[in-house]
Amino acid sequence: MWRVASRSVTPTPISRGPFAVSDLPAHALVLLVGTSGSGKSTLARQVFAETQVLSSDRLRGWISDDESDQSVSSQAFEVLGLLVRHRLAIGRTTVVDATNVSRSSRAEFLGVARAAGRPAVAVVLDVSVEECVARDAARADRRVGRAIIESQRRTLDASISDIALEGFDEIRVMN
Ligand code: GDP
Ligand code: MG
Repeated sequence: MWRVASRSVTPTPISRGPFAVSDLPAHALVLLVGTSGSGKSTLARQVFAETQVLSSDRLRGWISDDESDQSVSSQAFEVLGLLVRHRLAIGRTTVVDATNVSRSSRAEFLGVARAAGRPAVAVVLDVSVEECVARDAARADRRVGRAIIESQRRTLDASISDIALEGFDEIRVMN
């Protein structure tokens, strides 16, 4: 008879505040986590090289000419997953610029990093709904609106307290 050993998980330590790319492990998958308007794409632009950042919005745009076209999300994430896999296979730092607010969305990318034998880092942009709604309203390009931001925040709140148990090598929280 097989006995399944009970698995104890050591929580990942959480670092707060700004960081430099040199602080991150090499060859890593970096998952940005945050609602629309939390500043994921801005941070990615400031900190990482353009080719290191894989954006679900840009992939939607490449597929349909419309970055906000949610009807092509599954196609966009299919391509995103493929790009993450190929980059990590050759050890390139890879940033996923998508909301990643649900545990299941993060688990999928974590699995890709595990399979490639690469470390995984979560960078959580913990910005209030009100701030995100205000930034969203001030955007010149496409806006998502309060209801979507609130819904994303509820999804984030449902899992964020246990993110330290998801298996990331590092977690950074910024606000
Ligand atoms: P994303 O939806 O999470 O990718 O958010 P973006 O990076 O596109 O940022 C949304 C809006 O907020 C943009 O107009 C940014 O210029 C603005 N923004 C991003 N980061 C900050 C920040 O730290 N402070 C302020 N005040 N605005 C920001
Ligand atoms: Mg963005």
